[in-house]
Amino acid sequence: MSARPLALSDDELSTCVSCGLCLPHCPTFRVSNEEALSPRGRIATIRAIQYEGLQIDEHVSEIQNTCVQCRGCEPACPSGVPYGRLIEAAKNEMARQRRTAPWWQRFGLRLLRHHRLLLIGTPLLAIGQRLHLIPKRAGLSTLPIRLGAPIAPTSTSPDVWLFTGCVMDAWQRSTHRSTAALIQAAGCTFGVPSKAGACCGALHSHAGLTHEAQTLARSVMTSMPGTAPIVVDSAGCGAALKDYGHLLGTSEAVAFSERVFDVHEWLEPHMNSIITTHMSDTDKIDVVIQDPCHLRHVQKAHIAVRTILAPVAHLIELDDDGLCCGAGGAYSIVEPELAGQIRERKVRNILMKSPDANTLVASANPGCLMYLQGAGLVVKHPVDILAEALGLVPTTDHPQSKGTALS
Ligand code: SF4
Ligand code: SF4
Repeated sequence: MSARPLALSDDELSTCVSCGLCLPHCPTFRVSNEEALSPRGRIATIRAIQYEGLQIDEHVSEIQNTCVQCRGCEPACPSGVPYGRLIEAAKNEMARQRRTAPWWQRFGLRLLRHHRLLLIGTPLLAIGQRLHLIPKRAGLSTLPIRLGAPIAPTSTSPDVWLFTGCVMDAWQRSTHRSTAALIQAAGCTFGVPSKAGACCGALHSHAGLTHEAQTLARSVMTSMPGTAPIVVDSAGCGAALKDYGHLLGTSEAVAFSERVFDVHEWLEPHMNSIITTHMSDTDKIDVVIQDPCHLRHVQKAHIAVRTILAPVAHLIELDDDGLCCGAGGAYSIVEPELAGQIRERKVRNILMKSPDANTLVASANPGCLMYLQGAGLVVKHPVDILAEALGLVPTTDHPQSKGTALS
């Protein structure tokens, strides 16, 4: 028997029984109606690569590259197919054969570990956006020109670490300020990672660049030593940090991952200390809850968002079972057409629940947040909504907040 190309066990590949129950939960199937672009279709292709010698040509690459890696198919699957592992193995082999992650994506990902460069480049990008010099390909919102001061730790032996990351620290530092204010309101001190913890490697993993992701993971682990919990306010980064045990396969990495908490998970048991006076119903604002896939399908920490927002907001739930918004890490840049169709669907769902395009939407992932802002919705991170409602940070308005949403 010839060597099998993908690092997958027969057990992992045999669990799919082709029932099709996952199909309505797959955003690319919903917008394309093509079997090949469904979880079942992609699994069939992965099996053919593994067992039938199917070559990874342009067509096969497209089938896998158009997967958002939202993992909405996993909770929908009654057989427990580990879809995330299957697509990860396929992307690894595709990256090895240069069938995914084009040169410009690899170049961009390499820059993420150079945090200073990202901080210097962000205002330039922001000015370029305002002068219409940057292509609108990714459909993101306008970047901030001023980043404000870096997040300063409050202790050298902190109660918790606040993971700041790469893109989030450059593009949405104000959310870290809200998280810092809430951690302090809970009576805790916090530290921030050393320079070694500049990037978690989530986007590298998505692109199949496992070796780069492993190098970054080892570096991040050294940046937050000790046993204190690690609080993460980006759903994508949190999912990546929680997966280090699998990515590195060491007991140290497993122990590190066990220290990681999504910020809402961490805040939930501290809410009694944070909320000292109760807000009346009339003072609460309406907030549409949009669950990022890496919070809902991967971390399964989405309920905590509702718990922390309920004291300050009337929560409006969507009817789409957490269907992806199309942002998907770098997906909206790499697959802008499909991503745009997926986003249109999400925006329609949001407007169906709240026809006023100025109603606030809560989204706990920087990529989803900016991608939905790019469609003209008013979107904030849940910790910003909470910290602002409690008067812990100044209230901010987003420039694209005035009713330009798709309809
Ligand atoms: S990860 Fe998302 S896009 Fe990919 S097959 Fe599953 S549901 Fe579809
Ligand atoms: S992945 Fe799961 S839900 Fe989808 S076809 Fe296979 S067994 Fe059915």
